[in-house]
Amino acid sequence: MTENTDIVIIGAGFSGLYAVHKLRETYDLICFEAGDGVGGTWYWNRYPGARVDIESVEYSYGFDEELQQEWKWPEYFSAQPDLERYANHVADRFDLRKDIRLSTAVKSLHFDQESNRWHVHSANGDHVICKYIVAATGALSAPNMPDWPGRDKYQGEIYHTTQWPDEPLDLQDKRVGIIGTGSTSIQASPILAERSKHLTVFQRTPAFSMPSGNRPLDEEHEREWKENYSERRAQLLDTYGVSLIEYPTKAAQECTPEEQKAILEEGWQSKSAFQLMVAFTDVMTNRESNEVVCEFARGKIREIVKDPETAEKLCPTTYPIGAKRLCIDNGYFDMYNRDNVTLVDVKNAPITEFTETGLKTANAEYDLDVIVTATGFDALTGALTRIDVEGVDGLKLKEKWQDGPTSAFGFMVAGFPNLFMIHGPLSPGALAQMITAGEWQVDFVAGVIDDLEKDGYSRIDTTEEAEEGWAAEVNGAASQTVHHLAESWYNGKNIEGKKGGFMVYVGGFPRYRDLSETAVRNDYEGFLRS
Ligand code: NAP
Repeated sequence: MTENTDIVIIGAGFSGLYAVHKLRETYDLICFEAGDGVGGTWYWNRYPGARVDIESVEYSYGFDEELQQEWKWPEYFSAQPDLERYANHVADRFDLRKDIRLSTAVKSLHFDQESNRWHVHSANGDHVICKYIVAATGALSAPNMPDWPGRDKYQGEIYHTTQWPDEPLDLQDKRVGIIGTGSTSIQASPILAERSKHLTVFQRTPAFSMPSGNRPLDEEHEREWKENYSERRAQLLDTYGVSLIEYPTKAAQECTPEEQKAILEEGWQSKSAFQLMVAFTDVMTNRESNEVVCEFARGKIREIVKDPETAEKLCPTTYPIGAKRLCIDNGYFDMYNRDNVTLVDVKNAPITEFTETGLKTANAEYDLDVIVTATGFDALTGALTRIDVEGVDGLKLKEKWQDGPTSAFGFMVAGFPNLFMIHGPLSPGALAQMITAGEWQVDFVAGVIDDLEKDGYSRIDTTEEAEEGWAAEVNGAASQTVHHLAESWYNGKNIEGKKGGFMVYVGGFPRYRDLSETAVRNDYEGFLRS
């Protein structure tokens, strides 16, 4: 049966849920969600230790005053089960489920340029014709699973951290191997080490990490936030969506070595995941200043990890601190002092294949009962390119993006009219706080749709020229910071063969918002309406 509606929303994560709430005030819509439940990132990532790295009083919705007053977060940095509970609460409280089809992956999106309508097909056989698509598909939702040969012959259990089983795993007598040392592994590994007989960590690139300031949320802090929520939310939009940060006044070279040390020590103790990145005004723009912070963080690793050889292996030396997402942890480096944990370098001797009993690297074999792949995501583009998206004149999104993603303001791609992305490639993505920035983007898209409807247009597209202009803005911003000096999911270099360039806008959320709003105000400069 073919159905007709105004808008199809893809994804019932935090942005998708808000999009359902916001857009159905005016339009008919259907939201498709591949998972069996709502919450997106916080539905899928249920590995042990999964926890947000931004304070929950901030990392939460601001669109409804009663919701933000009523909801109680038990801890400063919420664990996955609390975030999933919150997503479910929001879905129930605002009666969103009636418009959401769970367990329904979207398979294809084809644009019919005669009627200016999208045809949406799901893996369950749904066929929906709609005018607009809102792709709230997530920046970090398509798992990256390296394709080492021999997976079928491995007799043990394999789990990707994004597809963790619901039932608790009994690991007590098991030899566990975890591949990867990004934010995910850094959270999961200390718990896996406690629960298993032995944990082997396969590390390609060591990570910078600082201790999480998680603790039970104190009532005074909560009360203070709740009294000032509207002002605080507005402030978040004028910063990066994170207010915990204390902004510096001095560059590193303006401080004596003693002052530098005192500032960095304070940053380390600050309990904010990003404080080291802003310890001095120029950490993210000046290599020399950045190196001061790197050396401080390496010093912490050497202090914590007792075996000097392991400590050195854990010290990042090949990229600036903050150039990849800075991790936060609960006892990650300390874990290497346990007798049942081994660190294996797979940079110099890469993993080559699965064997019947475990993994083979270029120089050794490892017997493992359980293999955990914490190997991250085909970020930013993966969620959409895994869907067959076809725009005007048969143009496939996957082909258009084969040398790297293009977009105007991270929200539209030329040749794909009426398709709006939330947290799309070349938007600030995870470099702004995802819930607050996502709410703003949904409101922005809702405003665009309202304008089109009010002015009687049936179609909006952007142009290749506008995409080039935005790419110049994105690359210009990236080149002024140290971000481009690391291989990471920000530039697709975490995945072999993926082309991309820098895919995240680091020019700051306020500028992003300002440029997007200005384009709309200037009679949709860079967009074509018909
Ligand atoms: P990630 O940062 O991309 O880390 C993946 C890890 O797997 C890296 O250590 C990577 O090594 C390794 N890897 C990938 N392919 C490999 C291969 N073929 N052989 C050996 N190692 C391989 O992914 P993630 O840890 O899932 O985190 C992704 C993002 O999600 C984070 O940056 C953050 O934005 C978000 N996140 C946030 C939280 C939080 O809020 N606390 C928690 C988890 C995730 P290389 O570094 O050499 O590529």
